[in-house]
Amino acid sequence: MTRSAEKEKATQAARQLLTKFSVKSVPVPLERIVKALGIRVEYAPLDGELSGLVYVREGLPIVGINTLHAPNRQRFTLAHELAHVQLHGPELENAVHVDRGSLRRDAISAAGTDPIEIEANTFAAELLMPQDLLLAILDGRSIDLEDDEAVAGLAKRFRVSEAAMRFRLDSLGGAG
Ligand SMILES: [Zn+2]
Repeated sequence: MTRSAEKEKATQAARQLLTKFSVKSVPVPLERIVKALGIRVEYAPLDGELSGLVYVREGLPIVGINTLHAPNRQRFTLAHELAHVQLHGPELENAVHVDRGSLRRDAISAAGTDPIEIEANTFAAELLMPQDLLLAILDGRSIDLEDDEAVAGLAKRFRVSEAAMRFRLDSLGGAG
């Protein structure tokens, strides 16, 4: 598949989940969704550069989240690992998938080069900052990405990091 086809597939997968769980407002109830899908989440302090990991043991998906990172970053990581469960299940049967990254990993979001990471970040961005809900809140306004207060307000509403929101606004063209 082409890069944009992969992203489209990931976006559609996130939208299907939002529809399945009747999500019509933010913040998106990520933990409830993950739990309802039968995924076990373990929160623990992990090595600094690790953001999270995911594997499947006897059919049970298990996600680990680094509690040393900021709560909104942990939330993005959880959405990212959920993406791997939804999109890359078979690959998780053979080996533990470990996500590392700089502190700005969620900010650079879909800028990575590994296709499955791009898909996972694309899925996570759509799941936590659904395009239709974000555009409804913006209601035709454009947000100046230099306006820290406006970006912070939106980030808080969606429970994501300001960096993730800034990247999302930029990629949706909802910024002016
Ligand atoms: Zn990953």
